[in-house]
Amino acid sequence: MELKTTYLAKHVRDLKPSGIRKFFDATAGMKDVISLGVGEPDFVTPWNVREAAILSLEDGYTSYTANAGLPELREEIAKYMERDFCVTYHPESEITVTVGASEAIDIALRAILDPGDEVLVVEPCFVSYAPLVTLAGGVPVIVQALKENDFKVRAWQLENAVTERTKAIMICSPNNPTGAMLSKAEMGKIADVVKKHDLLVLSDEIYAELVYDELYTSFAAIEGMREHTILVSGFSKDLAMTGWRLGFVCAPAEITEGMLKIHQYAIMCASTMAQHAGIEGLKNGRTDVAEMRKSYRQRRNFIVRSLNEMGLACHNPEGAFYTFPSIESTGLNSEQFAKKLLQAERVVVVPGDAFGSVGEGYVRCSYATSMAQLQEAMTRIRRFMENL
Ligand code: PMP
Repeated sequence: MELKTTYLAKHVRDLKPSGIRKFFDATAGMKDVISLGVGEPDFVTPWNVREAAILSLEDGYTSYTANAGLPELREEIAKYMERDFCVTYHPESEITVTVGASEAIDIALRAILDPGDEVLVVEPCFVSYAPLVTLAGGVPVIVQALKENDFKVRAWQLENAVTERTKAIMICSPNNPTGAMLSKAEMGKIADVVKKHDLLVLSDEIYAELVYDELYTSFAAIEGMREHTILVSGFSKDLAMTGWRLGFVCAPAEITEGMLKIHQYAIMCASTMAQHAGIEGLKNGRTDVAEMRKSYRQRRNFIVRSLNEMGLACHNPEGAFYTFPSIESTGLNSEQFAKKLLQAERVVVVPGDAFGSVGEGYVRCSYATSMAQLQEAMTRIRRFMENL
C-alpha cells in the first residue's frame, strides 16, 4: 500500500512557524550570547509560591481538581479582579483556571467562532493570535496599529475593518511587543465600536501588573464592557511563573460554560500543584510583584535612554518588559539587523516583523534580564552601531 505524502491537515501545513523560535535556533551552540529576545522574567518564582507547590505535593494533592480549577483559587482570582481591576466575576460561573494565558486564548476563540467568523487582530501583537484564530476556524483580519500613533490602535481603524462577519476584536494592553498601553479614554472609544456592532473583545491583560507610570484600566471595567469582554490573564509574567503553566480567563457565564466544555475535554484541569502555588501568589505574592515591577521600571528607564542615545529611537513603553526601537537609521531591515547584531556582537533581539508586517523597521528588545546583562548588551549594541 502506498503511503500518503502527508498526514497533516491542510490548515496545519499552512501554519507558519513562529518568527521568534526560528531566531533562537540560530543561537544554538553560540557562546557568550546575551539574549534580549525572550519574553519571560529573569526572576525565579518567589519562594513562598514555590513552597506552596512543594507543600501541595507533600500533602498528597496529586489528583485532578475541578475542571474549572480549585474553588479557592477561583475565589482568590475573583477577589483580585475586584480589588485591583474593579470588575466583579462570579467564581463559580465566570472564572476558568487554564494552562497559561495561552490556553485561555485558545479556548476563548474556539468557544465563540463559527467557521468563517472574522476576528480583528491588532498588530504588532503576540505571535499566537492570528494562528489560533485560524485553528479555531475563524478568519484573522489584521488591523495595523501605526507607529505614528505609538503603536496604539485607533477606534476608527477598528470601525473601518468591521464587516457583518466580525465576531470579536483581540487587544493586548500593555502590549507585547511594543509595551504600549491604551488609556481609559482610548478604550472608551473602542468600546463605542464594540457596542455599535455588538462585538466581543478578547482582552489579553497578562501584563496588567507590569505598568510603570500610569494607572491600569481593565477593558472589562469600561462602562458596559463587562458583558462584551473575555478577559485573559495569568501568573507567568507578574509572578515569574512561565514554567508553571497557569493562567485564567474571566467571562460572562454563557461564554465561560462554552469554554469549560472545550477545556474539560482537551485539558481536564490545570496542574494541581501549580494551582496551589497560584493561591499563595494571589494571597501573599503582591510585595514580590511590587519589587519586580520596581526593578523592571529601573531597567526600562536605562534601556530606553541608552537606545535613544545611540540613534535607535524608541518611545517610553508604559508597561510589559519590552522596548521596540526603530532601526530605520541603520538602513537595514529588521531581520538583517538582528542577524548582523547576533553575528557581530552576540546579542539577541527579535525582528519586529515577527509580530506582524507593521513591525518591519523595528526590533523587540526585552529588558527582563539583569541590569549587568543589560549594561553589557547596551555596550555591545553601541559598538555595533558605531561599526556599521
Ligand atoms: N499573551 C501575551 C501577550 C504574551 O506575551 C504571552 C507570553 N509571552 C502570553 C499571552 C502567554 O502567556 P502564558 O505563559 O500565560 O501562556
